[in-house]
Amino acid sequence: MVKYRWMLAVGIVLLMAGVFHPAASAESAYFLSSSVEVSFGTSLDFTVQVASEPMLEKLYLFLQPESTDLVLLEVPVTQQSNELRFALAPDSLPLRTFGDVIYWFQAEFSDGTSRESGQYRFAYNDDRFNWRALQTDHFRLYWYEGDLTFATAAVNVAENSYNDLALDYGDVYEGQVIDLFLYGSRAALLDTLSGSAAGWEAAHADPELGQVLMWIAPGPDQRSEMNRQIPHELAHLFTYQVVGGQYQNQPVWLLEGLAAIAQLEQDPSYPQLLQDAADDLRLIPLNSLCSAFPAQGDAVYLAYAQSESFVRYLRTRHGNDALLALLREYASGTSCESGFQNVYGIPLDRMATMWQREVLGVSSSLVLLEKAAPWLLFLLLTVLLPIGLSLFHPARPAEAENA
Ligand SMILES: [Zn+2]
Repeated sequence: MVKYRWMLAVGIVLLMAGVFHPAASAESAYFLSSSVEVSFGTSLDFTVQVASEPMLEKLYLFLQPESTDLVLLEVPVTQQSNELRFALAPDSLPLRTFGDVIYWFQAEFSDGTSRESGQYRFAYNDDRFNWRALQTDHFRLYWYEGDLTFATAAVNVAENSYNDLALDYGDVYEGQVIDLFLYGSRAALLDTLSGSAAGWEAAHADPELGQVLMWIAPGPDQRSEMNRQIPHELAHLFTYQVVGGQYQNQPVWLLEGLAAIAQLEQDPSYPQLLQDAADDLRLIPLNSLCSAFPAQGDAVYLAYAQSESFVRYLRTRHGNDALLALLREYASGTSCESGFQNVYGIPLDRMATMWQREVLGVSSSLVLLEKAAPWLLFLLLTVLLPIGLSLFHPARPAEAENA
């Protein structure tokens, strides 16, 4: 019934927008029909109509969620009627919210033969809310909290960001439409991310599906949130289009830095956070932000602030084309360090030292001193301290010790 209510409420809008895809009608002589009732986050209820002959012994289900691995499951054959029903827990499957899933069956019979069904399809839509839709040149916006003014403000920010990004990256989404889903609360958004998201995450871009899920609630902060989140997530989609399947080989500092400099408003706390860390020599080495950001705490925000500032520095000093060249260099499979050296001609840590000095006023000698600190301590303990102690406590003459 949940699905029925969902369809009744917004089916017309979404059908126009093309979110629903009717199930494929191909059926074999044995498989007569199949359907799935989706209760988001709760259950997928499958129904399969089969012929009464031959005698079914085993039934396998193949699930192909959009842009993820094929899943094979054996369906328990307990009923002896022509209608088989079974339920799956969505949490146990690699489903993507608002992504399509293609599925089909293979039956094995007691006489040793087997048969495969045609392909069917369902959409794993978040049916917990009454989504409304608004379409512009490059976007389909879905939202459920706030009025049309709220939605119009969001699509205007999206279109403006698109134009800015197209200047930097080219019109890489020409002829395609990007789906933007605006959730009304962080909790509702996090529920859609299957527990994979960090607690601080306010948005999720899925470049493979060409969609962005965000948490932006109507209210006094809505404009700032739109100016920050929408261009940030769109920049992730644009960089994905540039590097294609090699997105995972890109350093995190580069991806997040590019997304941050695309924002129409920066996080107001970042400049102070960055300067304090620079003054206290607490900056995170850039090369430790290649494969992942810190898991939690203030270090996460510092990692974002550093990436934003460093990538902005690279663009100001060396231009946008070098950043695009860097993305393509990493897309060819080069490591974080050598890819940087290949494009900019100097090591990443040397460029980072120049950035610290020129942007944050950190003197090179202080940085060198910090890097040398463990060795200086070692020197102090092993050489200087014993010398110092020997001066204050000269060794007794050998005769005295023998006395
Ligand atoms: Zn990001």
